[in-house]
Amino acid sequence: MKFQSTRNKNLRLDSAETIVKGLSEDGGLFVPVEIPVLGKGEITELSKLSYCERAKRIFSKFMTDFSEEELFECAKGAYIGKFENDEPTPLVKLGENVYMLELWHGPTCAFKDMALQILPRFLVKSSEKAGDGKKIVILTATSGDTGKAALEGFCDVEGTEIIVFYPDNGVSKIQQLQMQTQKGENVSVCGVKGNFDDTQTAVKKIFTDENIRAKLGENGKRFSSANSINVGRLLPQIVYYISAYADLVADGEISEGETVNVTVPTGNFGNILAAYYAKQMGVPFGKLICASNANNVLTDFLSTGEYNVNRDFYMTESPSMDILVSSNLERLIFELSGKDDGYVRAVMESLREHGEYSVPDEILSKIKEHFAAGFTDDIGAENRIKMLFEEYSYLCDTHTAVAVEVYEKYKSETGDKTKTIIASTASPYKFPRAVLKAISGENEPDDFEAAKKIEVLSGLSMPKQLSELSEKEPRFTNVCEREEMADFVLSTAGGDF
Ligand SMILES: *Cc1c(COP(=O)(O)O)cnc(C)c1O
Repeated sequence: MKFQSTRNKNLRLDSAETIVKGLSEDGGLFVPVEIPVLGKGEITELSKLSYCERAKRIFSKFMTDFSEEELFECAKGAYIGKFENDEPTPLVKLGENVYMLELWHGPTCAFKDMALQILPRFLVKSSEKAGDGKKIVILTATSGDTGKAALEGFCDVEGTEIIVFYPDNGVSKIQQLQMQTQKGENVSVCGVKGNFDDTQTAVKKIFTDENIRAKLGENGKRFSSANSINVGRLLPQIVYYISAYADLVADGEISEGETVNVTVPTGNFGNILAAYYAKQMGVPFGKLICASNANNVLTDFLSTGEYNVNRDFYMTESPSMDILVSSNLERLIFELSGKDDGYVRAVMESLREHGEYSVPDEILSKIKEHFAAGFTDDIGAENRIKMLFEEYSYLCDTHTAVAVEVYEKYKSETGDKTKTIIASTASPYKFPRAVLKAISGENEPDDFEAAKKIEVLSGLSMPKQLSELSEKEPRFTNVCEREEMADFVLSTAGGDF
């Protein structure tokens, strides 16, 4: 099994090389040359296995340069003892047709743990197989959830260091504390004066700065990325969709072969793309319902074929979906254009130059065959949190609420009552002020006070890893100017610590 770049089909690499590189040099994203297909009856076989065994089996179809033992080691290291339960992704049934796939029972309470707990293990092994022996320095800009999940994943992983920049005043108090109190000898965190875009742009510049790279090289180090474009993040996400379907079979909720829809609260298009790949592998998924917040560029694209980022940007209560350029969409366009790398290059050039592109009817009709799309604003999400709480005593976070709201709209507009898996992407206690406001109408400015009130109302405890933050002393209180970020990187990773 090889992986190829969406912008140059002739570039073909093993999974280890792909994971070490992250992004292809031509700017493209790596995709599997051929999508492996599940065998007849394989889902029934999978349904009898543990999560880690399922993961091993699915990874081994893509990562043929790894042994099954290596893959099993990676999966066990990532998922055993790290999540609330060794079956890390429980399904919770709501009503007749809805199954909430809870992906947030890991160390940082967001779905990103599912990939970022295992990525460091893949990366260390990949680096042994395909790397140049250099120590890996992970450089990340975060709008909140990715940074903490990456810190937790790379914390004290041999052969790696990690530096996270976050926009000062651009993340929630809980998110900031999660990062500032991170333990580990190989981690550092720094706030940046500016917004997320400024921070991200500066990080990209440092990443490609020849001088900095050379200095790092002299110290036997190289940069790598934990960003969601890394294949090492995509594959673990495919696993939980296949696993969820297998669970529904195992629990007798569906018979093997029955069609199930999937609804995903979407930002960078990484999570829903994994569901698309699972479908291509033969999981009987029907419609993949892409849910957006007020930043509804994907809703427009998936319904009209026109992608246009020249529009207002909104800061919403579901901040991890506040995004206008969804990088992983490039992979879908590559697949649906019949793997036309020239076409992908042209489309991405148009996006870079004009902030827009449109796809022909041929591609649009394929999109519509697989995808449905919708969006809702903060009020719609808030109302949905309240409704779920009143009707089912079920508490969900603001991102997940967007997905449930969009699913309900889809169902009433189309009459499609097919059972659906809805990806639940964060603990409600990660966004306690908005959740409290939704269920009680109360505006409580302090995250921890809001959380205490939710505990009283719901009887559900705040996860310990979040509640103990209020007592922890911050370790990393540095805030720098954008111009000082490069110096921070050099003083942190430039030396030999
Ligand atoms: C990152 C994130 C999303 C969006 O996921 P994508 O893979 O970027 O589409 C949704 N919800 C939460 C809570 C997230 O952290």
